[in-house]
Amino acid sequence: MRVLMLGTAAAVPDPDRNHSSILVTVRGRHYLFDCGQGATHQMIRSHINPATVDIVFLSHLHFDHIADFPFFVLSSWIADRKNAPIVIGPRGVKNFVDHLFEGGAFQTDIDVRAKYPNRASNIHVLKPDVRECEPGLVFEDDLVKVTTCYVEHIPTEQSPCFGMRLDTIDGKSMVFSGDTAPCDRLIELAQDTDLLIHECTFPEKALEFRKSAGVGLWAHTSPGELGKIATKSGAKSVVATHFASFDTTNPVVMDMLAIHMPRDLIGPDLMEDVVTDIRKNYAGELRLAHDGMRIDI
Ligand SMILES: [Zn+2]
Repeated sequence: MRVLMLGTAAAVPDPDRNHSSILVTVRGRHYLFDCGQGATHQMIRSHINPATVDIVFLSHLHFDHIADFPFFVLSSWIADRKNAPIVIGPRGVKNFVDHLFEGGAFQTDIDVRAKYPNRASNIHVLKPDVRECEPGLVFEDDLVKVTTCYVEHIPTEQSPCFGMRLDTIDGKSMVFSGDTAPCDRLIELAQDTDLLIHECTFPEKALEFRKSAGVGLWAHTSPGELGKIATKSGAKSVVATHFASFDTTNPVVMDMLAIHMPRDLIGPDLMEDVVTDIRKNYAGELRLAHDGMRIDI
């Protein structure tokens, strides 16, 4: 199993980190987890043709996890994609996809391009096979099984959010937390996994500021909390990801992030703090994700 971290940022636009997306490849077959901004370009940068990626899992419907999806489908349509992608996610995914293609936002473009015989010949790929799922086993083929649980991010009644686990026929596994506050269901899903990819959105130093800043109730996991989750899960290896660009040196990103944390704290040194705070509770193998990171299991 090969894991490629295509995008490792949270929702702030950051030219140095794309939004959430992970490509898992098992015996040559690709499984895409989230399709945040930049996912398509990142696949190409990694020499993966997006038109060969047919199975997509979406953890939830925040834009930093799905915004590249229409570009992924449309750009691979015009690159002779053969199969309509299978799209698996929680309630709401169908509504999102239904508003993109036929009768949706890109109808005019599709009508124009479909006049060419080449594009008419594979227009079926613009009708993704969308499967809204409850927690549990959500996908199975001859190589992998994927199971999900609800995590603690947006209130489930408003918009459910998944954590997801992929197990291969080779006995390997990978768990992706999606976005979540510390969540016992996710810890259970991740028991003894080979690789736990877990969000770690804000450093400890941002937490007090965020509480008083009125920037939303959406729940995330701090580095100290991630250390505890990593230990409780028994994961053999951990990747911290979904960083809110707090290591940036770009002045515009710093300005945009300043509603979440004091601007003068922002900078690369904060990544040292993240490691220190995770290490207070976890002694095992640890990586801090960056775009393009590859992990072979
Ligand atoms: Zn997110």
